Amino acid sequence: MESTLSHYFGFDTFRPGQKEIITKVMNHQNVLGVLPTGGGKSICYQVPGLMLGGTTIVISPLISLMKDQVDQLKATGIRAAYLNSSLTKKEQQTIETQLKQGELQFLYVAPERFDNGYFVHLLQQISIHLVAFDEAHCISKWGHDFRPSYQEVIDKVFALPQDFTVVALTATATAEVQRDIMARLNIDKQDEIKTSTKRPNLVFQVNPTYQRQKFVLEYVTHHDKEAGIIYCSTRKQVEELHEALIEQDVNSTIYHAGLSNKEREAAQNDFVYDRVRVVVATNAFGMGIDKSNVRFVIHYNMPGDLESYYQEAGRAGRDGLKSECILLFSERDIGLHQYFISSSKADDDYKDKMGEKLTKMMFYTKTKKCLEATLVHYFEPNEKLTECGQCSNCTQGNKTYDMTHEAKMIISCIARMNQQENYSVIIQVLRGEETDYIRYCDYNTLSTHGIMKNYTTSELSHLIDELRFKGYLNEHDEILTCDTSVKALLNDQVSIFTTPFKPKSKEVVSINTVEGVDRVLFDELIQVRKRLSEDLGIAPVSIFSDYTIEEFAKRKPESKQDMISIDGVGSYKLKHYCPKFLDTIQTYKAKI
Ligand code: ADP
Repeated sequence: MESTLSHYFGFDTFRPGQKEIITKVMNHQNVLGVLPTGGGKSICYQVPGLMLGGTTIVISPLISLMKDQVDQLKATGIRAAYLNSSLTKKEQQTIETQLKQGELQFLYVAPERFDNGYFVHLLQQISIHLVAFDEAHCISKWGHDFRPSYQEVIDKVFALPQDFTVVALTATATAEVQRDIMARLNIDKQDEIKTSTKRPNLVFQVNPTYQRQKFVLEYVTHHDKEAGIIYCSTRKQVEELHEALIEQDVNSTIYHAGLSNKEREAAQNDFVYDRVRVVVATNAFGMGIDKSNVRFVIHYNMPGDLESYYQEAGRAGRDGLKSECILLFSERDIGLHQYFISSSKADDDYKDKMGEKLTKMMFYTKTKKCLEATLVHYFEPNEKLTECGQCSNCTQGNKTYDMTHEAKMIISCIARMNQQENYSVIIQVLRGEETDYIRYCDYNTLSTHGIMKNYTTSELSHLIDELRFKGYLNEHDEILTCDTSVKALLNDQVSIFTTPFKPKSKEVVSINTVEGVDRVLFDELIQVRKRLSEDLGIAPVSIFSDYTIEEFAKRKPESKQDMISIDGVGSYKLKHYCPKFLDTIQTYKAKI
């Protein structure tokens, strides 16, 4: 397994979750992998696909996504192709012939392809050991990007005669969506592999500004070497903002559903090939964009739910380097979403669900708690939380209220209860309320009963949430328990601070620096990559990610041997791409 990873992809170790997913596939178990964006989902079907042999079928909802993935595999010396409506008849025939002759290791297809009887007939004749469902949340009606054709394809896939394994992958699925995917794809509960939804390299910011355009223009000018996406909710806004950027000589383009296919493709390619730095777009942009060095994603408006937000924002920093995700919003955004929901033709159940999602999205814009922890809690309520220390809420320094005393009262109350309880019982006991349940459990006889009777329910919720988000309390199925870290609190080794409930926000602009990276050399290597990209017709980040280039600029390797030990350098890339980079490094070293 490891040797396949390092031989083809140049990585020495698996990222969290990858090995577990691949092991299940190799054991012939259908599996659902929930890994964060940039977590390396592709490897989860590419490595076992290579090991199992035959043709791995990858079902993917977006045509543009396929092209990038196939280009990347080809750049690694792997035989891959895609079949979709963007190809000419002749191109399709060539690929079908390759498929029939067993020449393809990977075939990417859109779900609609299974409506074509000839294609299904062709599939029946070849060797298939693995079928991957990429972006699997599109299968579920409860997901944020439901595609009926994706659900319909399932029966057709399972009707194929071969004995294959199924791997489904997604980044943004709530617990309900995960259950739905598993039921539809025949995946057992124990065959779900989830890793933390956390993306530690993303710095989240919320900014309730009335001067969005001014903010964006300043931000983009200050970050003049970085690539970024700015999402707006309407085409008109996209165009207006783009005009303003052009006026300031910002190298930018636009993308929305009102443009022709050709215009959209050109915009996308310009961005992926580093010919433009900034894309202003509606949410039509992005799902198929495989560009790992997006350094910022700004939302000009608030999206309708946190899944969409996290997916769009998560397009930043897929190479693991520090990147910023900034949400600008005004109260007017809320009204627009409420209008969309109430005027939609969906059934009431669905509208209620969308309403709930909108409420949680609004909560994200208002909370004073850690933004990363808020997102993690939304997707995985049982995950242990900690403050990220870098989001706009963590860095605002407005946690001036010392709640250490209150924290101790809450903790000692929870510790005295004879069983584990949920938020509301704990609050009732602290406030000294007497219900049948409280009497039944004898909680009214505890010394801590009523110990915080002067606090309102919402104040207590705030304090308990703060302890939860700081990791002193853990949650499992809404039941709260004390974490071992409370010892330090009870022994007076720590103090805990919270916000005095006042809203406040300010713009935080951080500068990306990575220790030890020679920035002059880095810029030179980026140019080498750009030239190579143009010569070979491969996207720059498919050659080497920014992370790998940074490692080059940090370690300044002198030989191929030095290079192979760097993440992202595999045998194929070593042979075909490294010499040019080595030359540049050598020349550079001679100069200094
Ligand atoms: P996503 O989960 O968003 O689909 P990708 O599969 O595109 O993510 O991977 C994101 C980035 O992480 C890519 O640049 C990929 O090469 C890199 N990557 C994947 N697996 C590993 C690994 N085991 N070690 C180092 N980098 C990895």
